[in-house]
Amino acid sequence: MAGKYLVFTCLFLAFLLSFTWYHLKDRDWGRYTAFPCQTENTGSNSIISHERLKDSPLHRMLYEKPDLLKLPRTDVMIATPWQAPIVWDGTYNLDILNELFHLRGARIGLSVFVIRKYKVFINDFLQSAEEFFMAGHKVHYYVFTDDVSGIPNITLKEGRNMEVVKISGYKRWQDITMRRMQLIRDYISQKLINEVDYLVCLDADLKFMDHIGVEILGDVFGVIHPGFFGESRTAFTHERRNYSAGYIPEDEGDFYYTGCFFGGTVEEVYKLTNFCHNAMMEDKAKNIEALWHDESYLNKYFLYHKPTKLLSPEYAWNDYYGSPVVVKRKRLVHVPKDYNAVRD
Ligand code: UDP
Repeated sequence: MAGKYLVFTCLFLAFLLSFTWYHLKDRDWGRYTAFPCQTENTGSNSIISHERLKDSPLHRMLYEKPDLLKLPRTDVMIATPWQAPIVWDGTYNLDILNELFHLRGARIGLSVFVIRKYKVFINDFLQSAEEFFMAGHKVHYYVFTDDVSGIPNITLKEGRNMEVVKISGYKRWQDITMRRMQLIRDYISQKLINEVDYLVCLDADLKFMDHIGVEILGDVFGVIHPGFFGESRTAFTHERRNYSAGYIPEDEGDFYYTGCFFGGTVEEVYKLTNFCHNAMMEDKAKNIEALWHDESYLNKYFLYHKPTKLLSPEYAWNDYYGSPVVVKRKRLVHVPKDYNAVRD
């Protein structure tokens, strides 16, 4: 009898062991041993060691406790229905974010195009970026131009450098603005993928007036257009022709995003620019162009590939829209331009 029990117990234990082995053999144990903040939005996937963590000021950084029962802003939406944060003044702690991005050694690229007469904007753009853009972080400017000698040689702060990339301009201004998607996409795969973790893509006729830092960074982000933040869907100037690749029906659309500022990890910006360029090419084959060119295709992309972070209109302000109370800081502002003078 005792022998029977022994055989039964041995069989049961063997079954238990093989069951456990079968279910645990393929488990990614790295997930459980790595430090939990290693992957999200780093762009580099590097693991932060406990040694480095102890050296970091974040280790004993003291700050006000977040209060779960108190919203940082009650006058504006601070997260989308798909739970992406919307960055407004007062919604983040820059000290914490700076430390997180320093620990990861984030390398941030900024692309800007100055073709033909838009060279008039580049000096102010770069000088103001040196003052306000990603202060204290590693920054690499990529200035795409048809006239290398027209780009000023400005003094850059430590950890920051600039590359001037010669390109041939297109004749029509619409082609210049739209082809940026293709040029950014191709330069990412040729070079940027090895040089930066994040890429921020900006228009040239902008001036930095206040801080813009790592609070903007995430997998893929867009900026809410300052002219449409209180508007209904039907007021959005999306492409409404259903035969265009930029088409958005009147009962769809979350926000109206500006085409002058977008970004994310280089991998995500590659996907975004590739989509927009292909959509443009699809329309070009039909001899059409979406209403607001690259901006229309960008809005189409963001409708079906939701941004993981949104920037409030503080990040692309235009004084034409005055000074609404909810906009506490005008961080990046459109430089007024004489369209006839700058566009051929
Ligand atoms: N651009 C350029 N040269 C041109 C037209 C456009 O370099 O002749 C670039 C420049 O970076 C500019 C961006 O494309 O900021 C978008 O064009 P624009 O500012 O005219 O578009 P808007 O925002 O006024 O619709």
